[in-house]
Amino acid sequence: MIQKITIAKGDGIGPEIMDATLAVLKAAGAALEIEEIEVGERVYLSGNTSGISQESMEVIRKNKIFLKAPITTPQGGGYKSLNVTIRKSFGLFANVRPAVSYHPFISSKHSNMDLVIIRENEEDLYAGIEHQQTDEVVQCLKLVSRPGCEKLIRYAFEFARQQGRKKVTCFTKDNIMKQTDGLFHKVFDEIGAEYEDIEKEHWIVDIGAAKMADTPEVFDVIVTLNLYGDILSDVAAQIAGSVGLAGSANIGEHCAMFEAIHGSAPRRAGQNLANPSGLLQGAVLMLQYIGQHEVAEKIQNAWLKTLEDGVLTYDVYREGMHTAKVGTKEFAEAIIARLGQVPSQLPPARFIPAPPIRLPEYQRKSPRKKVFKGFDLFLHWNKNSAEELANMVMECSTEKLALSMITNRGIKVWPNGLRETFCTDHWRCRFKPVNGVAESEDIVSVLKKAIDNHLDVIKTENLYAFDGVDAYSLGQGQ
Ligand code: NAD
Repeated sequence: MIQKITIAKGDGIGPEIMDATLAVLKAAGAALEIEEIEVGERVYLSGNTSGISQESMEVIRKNKIFLKAPITTPQGGGYKSLNVTIRKSFGLFANVRPAVSYHPFISSKHSNMDLVIIRENEEDLYAGIEHQQTDEVVQCLKLVSRPGCEKLIRYAFEFARQQGRKKVTCFTKDNIMKQTDGLFHKVFDEIGAEYEDIEKEHWIVDIGAAKMADTPEVFDVIVTLNLYGDILSDVAAQIAGSVGLAGSANIGEHCAMFEAIHGSAPRRAGQNLANPSGLLQGAVLMLQYIGQHEVAEKIQNAWLKTLEDGVLTYDVYREGMHTAKVGTKEFAEAIIARLGQVPSQLPPARFIPAPPIRLPEYQRKSPRKKVFKGFDLFLHWNKNSAEELANMVMECSTEKLALSMITNRGIKVWPNGLRETFCTDHWRCRFKPVNGVAESEDIVSVLKKAIDNHLDVIKTENLYAFDGVDAYSLGQGQ
């Protein structure tokens, strides 16, 4: 059955690697009908800060499958990342990034690496909610949701099962971010318990990243939050051989987007130099996703044979190790010439048709008992004495809510702060209920007093307990 797909040739090296990829797809007999849209630099510079028109968004929605070459995001000027816009608009919650070494044919730090990073794609610091709050302090809101974690983590386990992989490892930093990363880890444990056939483990992301860079062969599927996954998947691709060889799938419940993991490499553009392998790997993931496994396998094996034969683009070619340094077009022609062949030393690709992964609809749990436990009042104040500030802020206490603590960048500076602690102009003043009981509307009286006393209020944040468990961070040193 012919599958209609959307493509975008993007910027920089994008058009060259897309043409090369499409040539291979066509020669291999992929049953595709192609509709092209324009995204990226030209759209941005025409005044559209999202880099994509509404009509193009409609085309992606209609065709559901999108193969996208890299685009250039113009520097500064409020341009929003097109990739993030597409991923979030279409709910592409899982970013699947395989990292495989092709030792000894591609120079690699690791001879035995075959892992897949499944990165959360919509939340975390990539919610893109940033504010400057004082002269000295800016903030970025890290949002992590239960439905987001459940979908992604269940997808990772289903993916492991579908692909015959044995272990799923979760990376978080929940020793520091007990609420956000803590939720991700908790959901991993909950959902993991349903997959008895799959080994599970959790690593703190810093040491986990070091382990991955050192002995990647101990990992199989890694599931992690957006920012960690973004960084780690580039590291994984690079230590496997090159970022130029890695593709990725962005999977949603309604649409999916396939791409290379690298960018538009503007300095290499228009010279027939770029390696089309990353986008081709994205296309191979796409073919499997749409059920054209045989074509995917044929392309993958021809590509592996081309690597084995040492016919390579400049980025991975090594004098004395390989036989021919070729351009983008010639590399595609070399793959086409090998369609039908299989590698003789690298393991041949074998893609087994499997039903698409379908996730159960998210079931919102019944609301937990949510009790107001006070609030944090954030102030912009440009002096250094926490004692002086405390005296002013205490004036704002009411019979319901009283000042209990002040922190600066999270560290407690009052009461009993240390003189050595460096303070910025951004202060958090925690108010707790006087007799253990207050309501959220009691904040208003405190705020009124703060404003009447000419304190520069930046924002407030409520503190809650859910089912009797306090659900907010303590001050460091508290
Ligand atoms: P880049 O990935 O474009 O380039 C990094 C380095 O890798 C460069 O030295 C480049 O020459 C090399 N390289 C990358 N892909 C290659 C290929 N296929 N063949 C040969 N060499 C290759 O990263 P960058 O320079 O940081 O970013 C350039 C632009 O790409 C920026 O505007 C950035 O916003 C954008 N970008 C887009 C995407 C995307 O569309 N998915 C992803 C990352 C970066």
